[in-house]
Amino acid sequence: MEKIFGNFIDGKINEEGDKIKMISPSDGSTAGYCMETGRDATDYAVNSSLNALDKISKINLKERQKLLLKLADIIESKSEIYSNYESLNTGKTIRQSSFMDIPLGIEHIRYFGTVQDFRESREIEHPEYPGTRGIIQYVPMGTVAAIAPWNVPFLMAIWKVIPALLAGNSVVLKPSHYTPLTALELARDIKNAGFPDGSVNVISGKGKTTGNYLIENEKINMISFTGSTYTGKLVMEKAAKNLKKITLELGGKSPNIVFDDADIDRSVKGVLFGIYLNSGQLCESGSRLILSNKIRDKFMERMKYYLSNMVAGNPMDFNTDISAITNNDQLKKINNLMESGINEGATVYYSRDLKNKVPENGFYYPPTLLMDVKPDMKIFNEEIFGPVLSVTTFDTDNEAVEIANNTKYGLAAGIWTGDLNRAYRVASNILAGTVWINDYHLLSAAAPRGGFKMSGIGRELGLEGIYEFTQTRHLFYGNPDSGLSDAAYQLLIKE
Ligand code: NAD
Repeated sequence: MEKIFGNFIDGKINEEGDKIKMISPSDGSTAGYCMETGRDATDYAVNSSLNALDKISKINLKERQKLLLKLADIIESKSEIYSNYESLNTGKTIRQSSFMDIPLGIEHIRYFGTVQDFRESREIEHPEYPGTRGIIQYVPMGTVAAIAPWNVPFLMAIWKVIPALLAGNSVVLKPSHYTPLTALELARDIKNAGFPDGSVNVISGKGKTTGNYLIENEKINMISFTGSTYTGKLVMEKAAKNLKKITLELGGKSPNIVFDDADIDRSVKGVLFGIYLNSGQLCESGSRLILSNKIRDKFMERMKYYLSNMVAGNPMDFNTDISAITNNDQLKKINNLMESGINEGATVYYSRDLKNKVPENGFYYPPTLLMDVKPDMKIFNEEIFGPVLSVTTFDTDNEAVEIANNTKYGLAAGIWTGDLNRAYRVASNILAGTVWINDYHLLSAAAPRGGFKMSGIGRELGLEGIYEFTQTRHLFYGNPDSGLSDAAYQLLIKE
């Protein structure tokens, strides 16, 4: 009998209702069943979170931080369980889950558990009214709906739930129906750490049903959404009906610019890490290489060398380097976009043969280097979310910046050069929320992340990410002795 992973609502596991079968992308086997949450159960979860708000407000900020640190310890003590769930669900290598996604998530919880700069209020003076005083309060938004994609489900849950809790909100989180396991475990551990029941409810289900029910619920005050730009627009449209606050973390087509003065070996490794980590299924994956013509041949050869040495196999094996594709629909999207690239004139420089190397019924796409990609091609413009690096070459710095910015997206970018002045100059002209210089993919909980242009609205992580989960209330303390208000009242009221 395959395992059922029930919802976690109001401090209890809930297994009643329709189920969705989860397939393990590594080998096509059944990973278990999660819930297809209906409207009634969604409303129940929202009501439970609404009821929790009062209890959360009685735990002061310092105490909430202590609970977060306890949560980090609990997760650390069972990090093997989390890593196994994460890889079983997503098909990412167990090495990546064990050494990156889970430990990084734990560190991020600790950041929010210790951050000192977030204040629940601050005092101001009103320059127009000397002697009066103001207090700006950062009040929780209330009950937040968090909707997350399938590529980094644990980190995604942390980035949404933890800062929201820190700021005093309660959350109903809907992970992707492909990958709910670590989010469900997290909800249980949040209870175990001492947060009141209902502080975080996790309900699984598809976007068109459960996701929609959440957005339509009038008791939800804010939607923190991460997913594709296409869905983000739908969410924004729907949220407008009840004027809910939204943050949108959306897709990308991020450039990695390599100049001729870059350290070749380090930048080759960085560019490969930028695109092939998680088999390209990261929103900020560096899917466009913008390469100096002066070093083109040497660079391509070196990339091919490292790529041909990556170990293909079952991602649950600690030796494997190449992750699976998390679901079959995504695999089809990659195939379609690749086909269009070839039809439009791009050429395959190298494609890693995975035949007989990976489990037969799993979902895999060969890591591929694609040359001769031009800005008017679909593959240059559309997010592929797969292990395909599109290569375009340049001659001058200005040309490199122009190619990098020639996209509707603006999530991230990388710059590789030995000249830090050049790096600063170029980075300051890149229209993206994160620019790595001689590095890629390294995320810090202290740094806000998010998109320019079609890559999103609002920020996640950092102080900015915490304040997103608040609204301000201004308290104005009048000063009867100043005489100013008396003068103002006389505009209307004669003695
Ligand atoms: P998706 O947009 O299909 O789904 C994201 C979430 O929205 C899922 O939980 C899904 O069930 C839900 N959803 C789908 N349709 C909905 C609807 N009509 N109403 C309400 N909810 C709905 O995205 P995906 O395929 O799960 O994830 C891949 C995408 O996520 C990529 O575009 C990637 O770039 C993006 N992403 C962005 C970031 C970021 O921080 N910017 C991070 C990770 C992934």
